[in-house]
Amino acid sequence: MKTFPMFLSMAGRRVVICGGGAEAARKTRLILKTEAEIVLCAQTLDPELEGLVHAGRARQVQEATPELFDNCILSFIATGDEAEELALAAMARAKGAVVNIVDRPEHCDAFTPSIVDRDPVVVAIGTEGTAPVLGRAIKTEVETLLHPRLGAFAALAGRLRDAVAERIAPAARRGFWEWVFAGEAFAKHRQGDEHAAADLLKQAIAEGRAPQAVGRISLVGAGPGARDLLTLRAVRRLQEADVIFYDRLVDPEVLELARRDADRVYVGKEVGACAWPQERIDALIVAEAAKGRRVVRLKSGDPSIFGRAAEEIAAARAAGVEVEIVPGITAASAAAAALTRPLTERGETDSFVITTGMCRPGDAVPDWQPLARPGTAMAFYMAVEKAPQIEATLLASGVPGDCPVDVVASASTESQRCLSTRLDGLAQSLAGAGVKSPAILLLRYSKDHVARNVHNRVSAV
Ligand code: SAH
Repeated sequence: MKTFPMFLSMAGRRVVICGGGAEAARKTRLILKTEAEIVLCAQTLDPELEGLVHAGRARQVQEATPELFDNCILSFIATGDEAEELALAAMARAKGAVVNIVDRPEHCDAFTPSIVDRDPVVVAIGTEGTAPVLGRAIKTEVETLLHPRLGAFAALAGRLRDAVAERIAPAARRGFWEWVFAGEAFAKHRQGDEHAAADLLKQAIAEGRAPQAVGRISLVGAGPGARDLLTLRAVRRLQEADVIFYDRLVDPEVLELARRDADRVYVGKEVGACAWPQERIDALIVAEAAKGRRVVRLKSGDPSIFGRAAEEIAAARAAGVEVEIVPGITAASAAAAALTRPLTERGETDSFVITTGMCRPGDAVPDWQPLARPGTAMAFYMAVEKAPQIEATLLASGVPGDCPVDVVASASTESQRCLSTRLDGLAQSLAGAGVKSPAILLLRYSKDHVARNVHNRVSAV
């Protein structure tokens, strides 16, 4: 580390910003978040800075004198004139200020990080000037991870610190604070109910302990594979979870978002077959939740689409355990994104059918024939092996052989593959290209298509 991060105490100190242009305004905007006195040293100020002076939030001086830097903790210098900047820097340093000269890293004592601001919670990201773009990208990621109300809740918790120290026994304090930031009170606060959050905290403090943990099962959609296709709610549930049950299609990267000390249980479901029988999964997730643990059942895509969620919900309800669905991005949506082609197109395909090539062992496959109407787009899940049967059934029911079919395998992941073919060449193309599950077949039977067909038939007569 060539630079070392520290948080400066700003209250009652002065920050001197030399220069009145856009760079000075950028730095001023940052310092405005603090409690420091702001002094702008410049002959002329840009309108934003002028506005701050008029509002009394900053003070302007025209000329730099040594006294300007009295009590100065930090000075940003951005006049653009190197000799002048170095002279100002020397003056500032003589009074003990930390100096940052904009765009002259070799003359800086310190650098401004990318900041995620959830005051009083602040995350500072530095790349030692190697990759500011990376710093901003990390900032964006952290922004999505930290709830916008985190700061206000942390401030509330901070106000109760003394009360906690007084009423909660030292041995129980760590567990208590864990409950504060993972439990019901924070959930209420996130929903905008600050009063309920404060009441819950105060009640727990009065009782001298965190309330008994209430177990819960969250059926969480992990999306099609790419980590950034997870919803923010899914990320939050992962971070809250005590135990996570996941299967084959869930990317290991997604699991990294969970707390380090959460248990992870692989239940290894394959398409159409499972390493673990469903009843065993149902029983286990319910048993864990009944112990008061927060259980995440992570499922690929959206849990409500071919995810066997119904059985897990029924098991939870039968045991009186709270259960919820956290929706996810389903494979068909990811396939559409991979193709940059919408699933429905106005006037062409106004209906969208989600169906499958595979059912429970022993059950008949769906009757695709009545679903395949002109004006319909169809997404076939778990259908790679059944492609010959799908092709034959649809052709036999009169779907034109030249209907386009797009196949997307491992959509949104590094091994994503797309293939475009037509219905009458589907099985052969899949076999030829060696397409493997997981893959989605998207058939487009447009209204237009039928018109052309009818027209062909008429002209043939
Ligand atoms: N609940 C999931 C579907 C589970 S069934 C969802 O909403 O997406 C498993 C099937 O989903 C696979 O056989 C395949 O057809 C499809 N699938 C899952 N992930 C996929 C991906 N990344 N790319 C293409 N298809 C996928």
